[in-house]
Amino acid sequence: MTDPLLTIGEHVRELVEINGDGFWSPCSGCYETEDGYPVGSYPHSAVLRCVLGGGCSECGGIGAVWDNTDYADMAEWMIRQDRNRDNVAKILIEHGKLPAYQAGEIADLIMALDEPDVTGDQSKP
Ligand SMILES: [Zn+2]
Repeated sequence: MTDPLLTIGEHVRELVEINGDGFWSPCSGCYETEDGYPVGSYPHSAVLRCVLGGGCSECGGIGAVWDNTDYADMAEWMIRQDRNRDNVAKILIEHGKLPAYQAGEIADLIMALDEPDVTGDQSKP
């Protein structure tokens, strides 16, 4: 007989892969951070693919919440704002409730998209 927990874990993993409209992220109620960095050591869930908080009423004790923020829409909004890497990261932390390391990575990606294309004529004579 199959272990029911493995079956549940497999099902959750499938949902995470199929649903492109969000992802699990650490619960802001029980995942404590300072300036976006965790203040304690929190376990990482391979099934939910995120770090888990200690569990609280906000997340129903799971330690993670489903994040379906429309980041494409947020990016559009940011385009209209004064953009630099720090501002973008700050917006992602404050409005997207992302941890600092994740906000920094996404801010880097967004800023890289702003860079002029350097793979063009410069390498050719
Ligand atoms: Zn919680």
